[in-house]
Amino acid sequence: MEQTLSIIKPDGVSKNLVGTILKKFEDAGFKIANIKYLTLDSSQAGEFYSMHKEQPFYEELVNFMTSGPCIPFVIEGDNAILKVREIMGSTNPAEAKEGTIRADYADSIDRNIIHGSDSIESAKREISFFFG
Ligand code: UDP
Ligand code: MG
Repeated sequence: MEQTLSIIKPDGVSKNLVGTILKKFEDAGFKIANIKYLTLDSSQAGEFYSMHKEQPFYEELVNFMTSGPCIPFVIEGDNAILKVREIMGSTNPAEAKEGTIRADYADSIDRNIIHGSDSIESAKREISFFFG
């Protein structure tokens, strides 16, 4: 049994995709093990994405992530970290497989609806970032 951290980003919340997205993970056999509704401030978003600090998209990413409420949640199940990223689809929705969340709902690479942890270490860090 594995846990991973996902976030329905501000574009997902404003497009009324909360139920659709949670249902996709439940239908795939996963449990929603914790969940919150909150708006990140710049220092929180900056810290969450600190590994991207040197990237050209960092400032815009922090602006976007603080632009409205988001929904961090914990997903639990077999192979959750990898499976959740498969269900999300590639970072760039133009390259994401049909039927994935990003392919079906995201507008662009910088407005891509959902986050998912990419490793056991980041899942641990990101779950404790939001849920202690
Ligand atoms: N991002 C962006 N432009 C890029 C690459 C990434 O705006 O060229 C944003 C996008 O929101 C992405 C986030 O930065 O989801 C984190 O990037 P990462 O490479 O970790 O992608 P992810 O793990 O979210 O698929
Ligand atoms: Mg990432």
